Amino acid sequence: MAERVIPLIDQRRLATAPAVGVAAGAWEGGLLLDRHARPLTDLRISVTDRCNFRCSYCMPKEVFDKDYPYLPHSALLSFEEITRLASVFVHLGVRKIRLTGGEPLLRKHIEALIGQLAALRTPEGEALELALTTNGSLLTRKAAALKAAGLQRVTVSLDGLDDAVFRRMNDVDFPVAQVLAGIEAALAAGLGPVKVNMVVKRGTNDDQLLPMARHFRQHYGGQVVLRFIEYMDVGATNGWRMDEVLPSAEVVARIASEFPLRPLEPHTASETAQRWAYADGAGEIGVISSVTRAFCHDCSRARLSTEGQLYLCLFAHQGHDLKGLLRGGADDAQLRAALAALWQGRGDRYSELRAQRGPDAGASAAPRRVEMSYIGG
Ligand code: SAM
Ligand code: SF4
Ligand code: SF4
Repeated sequence: MAERVIPLIDQRRLATAPAVGVAAGAWEGGLLLDRHARPLTDLRISVTDRCNFRCSYCMPKEVFDKDYPYLPHSALLSFEEITRLASVFVHLGVRKIRLTGGEPLLRKHIEALIGQLAALRTPEGEALELALTTNGSLLTRKAAALKAAGLQRVTVSLDGLDDAVFRRMNDVDFPVAQVLAGIEAALAAGLGPVKVNMVVKRGTNDDQLLPMARHFRQHYGGQVVLRFIEYMDVGATNGWRMDEVLPSAEVVARIASEFPLRPLEPHTASETAQRWAYADGAGEIGVISSVTRAFCHDCSRARLSTEGQLYLCLFAHQGHDLKGLLRGGADDAQLRAALAALWQGRGDRYSELRAQRGPDAGASAAPRRVEMSYIGG
């Protein structure tokens, strides 16, 4: 039977967090800063560790089989618990929440959670940016309800346009046409512009770069932005190898060989994608170069796992048990103090350190990291 990666829980640090209030000196210009002066602005919430796909780079079939010990329902944070934590994060600076997983649309009544999160307000009385990342398989059924509940945007993951390649990538024989229909349903429901994320694995789906670019620049009237993601060494089960990473520079060169590109300025400092515009005005693409061009210096994201562990980095091997605090009766001030202390102590910059080890370095050795499907991408 497959072994589930059980994250360590750092109760010690929570126990030493101040009981009330937020430690002085942590705030600058109204922003809570970590050890590298990075503010906390984005929260990713994983709402399930289950998925109906078995993408080999994320949940390889051999590991995530029928015997895999997924979390029992009682271990998941309830919608009320998620919303309460989110509200505390908002008071610490979070302005953008993204729901993810596993496949977030598999979580029953997800619209109810979206409704609760959409009702949250910043201290200035503003609504949050609320988005969701999905494999798109259930969007035709759910897009309208998601929009009605208050979701603003979706990102759809799609790793190829050729049906055979895509079926191999998702490894459950799921047809590409249904994901394309999901993208259209999202646009029709008003969830655009839609970002489409393609993870590129050299030798597996890199022949799909140009077909994807051609398709998404031609259709949808500029309402779809295609983004290419470097295959990352996240988790411990995907057998990552550097020679399977296609560097973003090469992605850009290949696209530009058919469609000339010019660089665009980032929308915000913490934007993960580098943007490129088609020179002929047919929209833009993005590249996310987590491996070859680390962006830790601007990383403002915290991640809340399905069972209420807080992760300060995608590559962390240790979470912080917020569910224990919640269920142990902590009030909002105590939660806020604990979260602020954790963020202030954050020094993570895994990708930059990996880059310093050199381009041929493998994924780092022990300690074992949590899986992307558990922590949320
Ligand atoms: N199931 C949803 C989906 O696929 O969109 C949401 C969760 S998934 C873990 C979030 C994102 O992580 C997806 O865009 C997926 O392609 C990306 N991802 C997963 N494993 C990855 C890896 N090893 N390298 C790069 N991206 C990865
Ligand atoms: Fe599922 Fe998304 Fe992971 Fe693919 S990338 S296995 S769709 S969680
Ligand atoms: Fe942020 Fe960690 Fe990724 Fe660096 S490696 S960008 S700190 S999540």
